[in-house]
Amino acid sequence: MSGENYKILVIDDEKHNIDVLNEILSPMYEVLISKDGLHGIKMAKEIVPDLILLDIIMPDMSGFEVIQTLKGSDVTRRIPVIFITGLDSYKDEEKGLLLGAADYITKPFRNAIVKARVKTQLQVVEYIRALERIGMVDALTDLPNRRSFDKQLENEWGRAKREKTPISIMVIDIDKFKVFNDTYGHAQGDVVLQYVAKSFKNTLKRPADYVARWGGEEFVIILPHTDLEGALTISELIRTDVEKLKIPYNDSFLSVTVSIGLNCEVPPRYSYPAEFLSKADKALYAAKEAGRNVVMPSAAAL
Ligand code: GH3
Ligand code: MG
Ligand code: MG
Repeated sequence: MSGENYKILVIDDEKHNIDVLNEILSPMYEVLISKDGLHGIKMAKEIVPDLILLDIIMPDMSGFEVIQTLKGSDVTRRIPVIFITGLDSYKDEEKGLLLGAADYITKPFRNAIVKARVKTQLQVVEYIRALERIGMVDALTDLPNRRSFDKQLENEWGRAKREKTPISIMVIDIDKFKVFNDTYGHAQGDVVLQYVAKSFKNTLKRPADYVARWGGEEFVIILPHTDLEGALTISELIRTDVEKLKIPYNDSFLSVTVSIGLNCEVPPRYSYPAEFLSKADKALYAAKEAGRNVVMPSAAAL
């Protein structure tokens, strides 16, 4: 897709901002305008733009409320949102990012910076679409799928072997998920999978860390250049961050737990990633045996 075809929706109540953004972006993109939140959401649902630039302080509905509505709808949740706002405290920025914004730009902004950040987000959009085209992304969670994981593991294992550095892997399985589905329904189960996937993404901080949906309610995380001590710390964070999730259900919240099998090795000379993975998978069974909601390192890692 060439640049001219991208549609960018600007939701902002101030005419001056709209004019400036329009001036910066319209030479490259199709710019659509909405001057209030509700109308902006309606446009987003109808047009499904490639990117949304969203103001926060607006009279009828705040940008925070707008993004929550957008992320709550299957039609719009995947559209990246960049906040462009006068709210410049880090608390607001954190809030915006936690609500799912792709980026956060404070006013007064520099035109070139807005242009560059918009371009970056559209590149991500393009990248995701390309991945979807070749079938590497799981549609429910937006995480890489098993096929992608197989490739990634092979690459990272090869690299760790060459560099003689430790590599860690986690196999993660939601506890008693069958009972959860039977109790709350499959659709609610799907929501849990999305929350859990997001929690993993939020917990992992290093760019090289990699999480995929392995299948069903099982996930895998690869931590390159990470020794057992580091991997244990991250596994424990992964586990507790899931435990803390409050998943909206009717008027209250639900929670789930995960069990984690962990393996860490400096790849031996003659060795295969499949064995490395299988040891983590065995450790996962031990974690289930041990009562669930625990991290279990494999014998090979100790
Ligand atoms: P354990 O603690 O031993 O892991 O128990 P479990 O019930 O989680 O394990 P089991 O493997 O028996 O069941 C996995 C369940 O996960 C079966 C199915 O209901 C559910 N599941 C698998 N994939 C999906 C999915 O895509 N969506 C939903 N909603 N549920 C799924
Ligand atoms: Mg399972
Ligand atoms: Mg399970």
